[in-house]
Amino acid sequence: MPALDLPRPAWMTEDIVLLEEQARRFVAAEIAPHVDRWEEQGFYERAVWQRTGAAGFLCATIPEDYGGAGGTFAHEAVINRAYSLGGFDSFGAPLHSGIVAPYILNYGTEEQKRAWLPRLATGDLVGAIAMSEPSGGSDLQAVRTTAKKSGNGYLLNGSKTFITNGQHANLIVVVAKTDPKAGAKGVSLLVVETEGAAGFRRGRKLKKLGMDSADTSELFFEDVALPAESLLGTAEGQGFVQLMQELPQERLIVANHAAAMTERALDLTIAYVKEREAFGRTLIEFQNTQFELAACKTDAVLARLFVDHCIGEIVGGRLDAATAAMVKLAATETAGRVIDRCLQLFGGYGFMDEYPISRLYRDARVLRIYAGTNEIMKLVIARGL
Ligand SMILES: Cc1cc2nc3c(=O)[nH]c(=O)nc-3n(C[C@H](O)[C@H](O)[C@H](O)COP(=O)(O)OP(=O)(O)OC[C@H]3O[C@@H](n4cnc5c(N)ncnc54)[C@H](O)[C@@H]3O)c2cc1C
Repeated sequence: MPALDLPRPAWMTEDIVLLEEQARRFVAAEIAPHVDRWEEQGFYERAVWQRTGAAGFLCATIPEDYGGAGGTFAHEAVINRAYSLGGFDSFGAPLHSGIVAPYILNYGTEEQKRAWLPRLATGDLVGAIAMSEPSGGSDLQAVRTTAKKSGNGYLLNGSKTFITNGQHANLIVVVAKTDPKAGAKGVSLLVVETEGAAGFRRGRKLKKLGMDSADTSELFFEDVALPAESLLGTAEGQGFVQLMQELPQERLIVANHAAAMTERALDLTIAYVKEREAFGRTLIEFQNTQFELAACKTDAVLARLFVDHCIGEIVGGRLDAATAAMVKLAATETAGRVIDRCLQLFGGYGFMDEYPISRLYRDARVLRIYAGTNEIMKLVIARGL
């Protein structure tokens, strides 16, 4: 029995229940058997993207007219949950489908949508969003990358770091200044198709504490000539507003991920303490174990309920920035706390890589850092006090 056996939220309609089952079957057959190898070698194959696209699990929210599945964020959420419950926390698909594709859908011109969305849905294009720079990630107004007008198009210059899907991506949404003197109003989003883009270079796939098979990387742009149609939308200076509008969904994706990781940690730990013995008893028979897991389960249920509530809100078009920041803050802090307490119950085995709880512990750390650090979440929440 799963550790969290909660009633279905209202958005969990029959088609979404079926989709979740299909996604779990896909993950069990195509993903889970390979995750240990991918994590060990430090990358997963490019073909994973096409396989996921062919199975219909990329771009769930993109209308069928543009090659997507025509669903809502609820569809996206159950697919992402399946990756996580199957142990593939390093996968960049939640960002590709839930962040990059919506930028194109929500702000792109008709030509841009037709050019990019169908190929994002098949996995022929892998998407990335390049905001963070070596000089800073929290302060998006301070980006140094520039896109200067040149002839009919732009010349892009700058460097980005910590970019998810950095090695696989061939469609990169780059945050750049089209008017460096105009502050937030000078920020624009430029879409770079990397194939044949002279002056574009991928840097290192960065070595990290966790998410070992994720291709988080540096990216460099040196006088990359872009056509005018690379500007996302039709007007310069809209980038900051576009980012602010999309960040709540990005934060909910991370919160949903955190809640799923918490749930998996609890499942694994409950199974372990029922098997493992010390002093002639199974660990579950110690009151300390029961109390620890009772507290962890309570935390996990609270996180799940808040995430489920926010999924309903975003599907209904009501999720505001402060609530998205709260759910990201709450769910990721919960994941850190619960996974740490669960790991303790594994004793020395909890520290061994071959036990999934060890990887969960490492992988969960970044949840409190990316999509805006949890300190930035507190700033967003505090603004509305
Ligand atoms: C695995 C991984 C994947 C990532 N993927 C992407 C990606 O795909 N695309 C992308 O653009 N970025 C990505 N990032 C970058 C991530 O979003 C940034 O690391 C994050 O936004 C923080 O920026 P920073 O690292 O420059 O830290 P800084 O901004 O230098 O912050 C350092 C510390 O100062 C605190 N701080 C900063 N400003 C304030 C303030 N005003 N008040 C209080 N405290 C403050 C921060 O909370 C943090 O604790 C990824 C990062 C990681 C680790």
